[in-house]
Amino acid sequence: MKKYRNPMADQKCSSCGIGLYGEGTTTFKCPSCGGDRIGRCAQCRDQGVKYECKKCGFVGP
Ligand SMILES: [Zn+2]
Ligand SMILES: [Zn+2]
Repeated sequence: MKKYRNPMADQKCSSCGIGLYGEGTTTFKCPSCGGDRIGRCAQCRDQGVKYECKKCGFVGP
């Protein structure tokens, strides 16, 4: 009865680390390497906080 790879469960904002849920949040794959999934909360999107891909180190707005 393992809960494994639940796509909704462990997505976090890549900038501030809070869990992503509700409106205004988004996830997308890294535009540089396409290998890591970036999460952004509404607040970080609104403020244009930078994110960093943990795989390739790409930093973007
Ligand atoms: Zn955030
Ligand atoms: Zn990357």
